[in-house]
Amino acid sequence: MPATSISIVMPIYNEEALLPELLERMTRVLDRLEREFSLGSEWVLVNDGSRDRSLETLSNFAARESRMTIIDLSRNFGHQSAIQAGLEYATGGAVIIMDGDLQDPPELIPELVCSWQAGNKVVVAKRRSRAERGVKGMLFALFHAMLARLSDMKMETGSGVFGLLDRRAVNDLLKLHERNRFLPGLRTWVGYTQANVLYDREERAAGKPKQSFTRLVRYAFDAIFSFSLKPLRAIWTLGFIVSTFSFLYALFLIVMRMFHINVVAGFTTPTVAILLLGGIQLISIGILGEYLGRIYDEVKQRPHYVINEIIRAPKSDTR
Ligand code: UDP
Ligand code: MG
Repeated sequence: MPATSISIVMPIYNEEALLPELLERMTRVLDRLEREFSLGSEWVLVNDGSRDRSLETLSNFAARESRMTIIDLSRNFGHQSAIQAGLEYATGGAVIIMDGDLQDPPELIPELVCSWQAGNKVVVAKRRSRAERGVKGMLFALFHAMLARLSDMKMETGSGVFGLLDRRAVNDLLKLHERNRFLPGLRTWVGYTQANVLYDREERAAGKPKQSFTRLVRYAFDAIFSFSLKPLRAIWTLGFIVSTFSFLYALFLIVMRMFHINVVAGFTTPTVAILLLGGIQLISIGILGEYLGRIYDEVKQRPHYVINEIIRAPKSDTR
């Protein structure tokens, strides 16, 4: 087995329907890496508390496939935590992170590896197109546009977790201990020479998306609030604008009084003012809450995941 090797980290949650295809396509790619690139590989699958027969199928396969390791988590910890578990375990000279639903095509792996061998420490697989259409597709586009505008640093857009990280970048990434993890952002933060490889995102091979809509919204909030202080500053700006207008309006009222122009004691103005200010205050408190909740989460310092068992075939070769 060659000294340098590639680790592939893949979270799996209730994916039994597409596992046969995944196992077949991945094995073919891993064989290719060995044959054409003379690279050994380790395939780290993180079972994120699947409730179907995913773990069973994977274990059966792992018994025959020495390159495969299964990290079985004690329950469902979520996509990002599962990836974190895999990253901490992986030992390769480069680590490829990808979803296990075949939306990230395994056949792109050799291209990522080529770019890495050309000297890029971070290779991001960028979607040329999205499989998601309709409302969900529009929301994704909206999110990426907002993130690009709001983020305090220049953020890559149109990419997910799929990509390759050199060992150095992985080690740097693992030093970031925050709990609310938005991987594309953390990857940008780490820096180094980054390259892109374009691909067409496919429909998932089978089954339904495992990230519920609320999870995706949370993930989007994590992305924005952990990489931007602009919402906090926006509250300040909003307060400033509203105060300026109120001050001018007050001046206007005083002038009217001075010239004895009859000001009708109305109902509309106070109502509008109260509702508007009330709304702005609630939104502002909500934004503060988003940050506060995240701070609370960080302060607790809980681990990202709990491992139930690590399953792999007994190996004769080194690791
Ligand atoms: N996944 C996971 N834990 C979860 C949800 C999803 O490990 O709680 C895995 C899932 O099996 C898949 C990947 O994360 O391999 C991406 O999930 P999904 O396709 O549902 O997300 P989307 O493509 O909608 O972002
Ligand atoms: Mg998917």
